[in-house]
Amino acid sequence: MALNVKQVAVLFFCLTLPGYALAQGKYDLLLRGGHLIDPKNRINAVRDLAILDGKIAAVAASIDAAEAFKVVDASGLYVAPGLIDIHVHVYTGTGERGSYAGDNSVYPDGFTFRVGVTTVADAGCAGWRNFEDFKQRVIDRSATRVLAFLNIVGHGMRGGKFEQDLADMEAKPTAEMARRHSGLVVGVKTAHYAGPEWKPVEQAVEAGNLANIPVMVDFGSNLPQRPISELLTKKLRPGDIYTHVHSGNRNEQDPSGKVSLALWEGRKRGVFFDVGHGGGSFVWRVAAPAVKEGFLPDSISTDLHIGSMNAGMKDMLNVMDKFLAMGLSLEDVILRSTWNPAREIKHEELGHLSIGALADVAVLRLEKGSYGFVDMHGARLRGTQKLTCELTLRDGKVVYDLNGLTRLDWEKLPKDYGATGDPRWDRISIGRTGQGRR
Ligand SMILES: [Zn+2]
Repeated sequence: MALNVKQVAVLFFCLTLPGYALAQGKYDLLLRGGHLIDPKNRINAVRDLAILDGKIAAVAASIDAAEAFKVVDASGLYVAPGLIDIHVHVYTGTGERGSYAGDNSVYPDGFTFRVGVTTVADAGCAGWRNFEDFKQRVIDRSATRVLAFLNIVGHGMRGGKFEQDLADMEAKPTAEMARRHSGLVVGVKTAHYAGPEWKPVEQAVEAGNLANIPVMVDFGSNLPQRPISELLTKKLRPGDIYTHVHSGNRNEQDPSGKVSLALWEGRKRGVFFDVGHGGGSFVWRVAAPAVKEGFLPDSISTDLHIGSMNAGMKDMLNVMDKFLAMGLSLEDVILRSTWNPAREIKHEELGHLSIGALADVAVLRLEKGSYGFVDMHGARLRGTQKLTCELTLRDGKVVYDLNGLTRLDWEKLPKDYGATGDPRWDRISIGRTGQGRR
């Protein structure tokens, strides 16, 4: 009996399947010998980490290299959950000048994987009127996982004319848009308000109630009509987020140099405190005494935008370095850059390396030397440690590899070699566009 082409193909596939399965290994990728820091699971020790189908498949003192399709030596390096930066500005590409829904924002992929960041949350560049434009323009086209706080201003951060317009601050349509994109919209933002009214905060909180999401506050101008104590002890709810905590611009520090009582009381009530470094929100003379006093931020974030990216703030690792320089342990710093921010934005599937979790991983090197760290006013603090990112995985795939840790020496490859990766673990030499990778 003659077999048709399809039958031959099936037969061939079945005959070769056992050998193929053997070559595949039990895991797609194995990171061996790295020092794993996973604060959620209280792991701070040398561990092997195995990945299968984009998820964490095993964490153990030793995993057999023969069980993995691809093995990477991570010895001497730190293996952490992919970093989460919950304060960035990435709604760019509209062509609007002087606007965070335009030229003041940056495309996320140029600033994330190279420093171990796998998830960002845009902090209110778009409001309900332009969120879907932001989504199709940037969010859907980025390789980085981009989430967003919706601005309580319907037009978002398009400048003073829009951001000071009380009439465009409406809880209902904001909450409707948030619910339509539930999971993607992680909160409501109020920012830059210069007037004495509480309306921006109150509408943001109402939208937060309607959509069951937190509010992030940039408290704008410091006015006696709306003091920070009232914001933190009355207006905000437990789970809401106060950003720019070390700016000193709004009485975060009292005149004696101590952390304002309002911040301690806010923390007691469950309000979270976020760094949001930016171009104008991080001062050593505020941050250093606060850390000394024991008031640590819940989350470390960059407030990345064109005005901050080349100033005192460099990138996520640089902001983390600043907290190392102030004496926090690496574990404390990683907690505030992974699991804590994941909880703040209610994405508890992120920020840890539990079995079954998405395999977003940052492999970091802690370099020792002489370094300087600069605040918003250009003042320097010296430090002896600096993090660099060696390798970043998103969903189990290599998306950044500084020194070719996952790569083979070219001289050992076939003479006519082409792309060297494999789709089981690699997203760099296999497809470069990033389309639809969310
Ligand atoms: Zn910001």
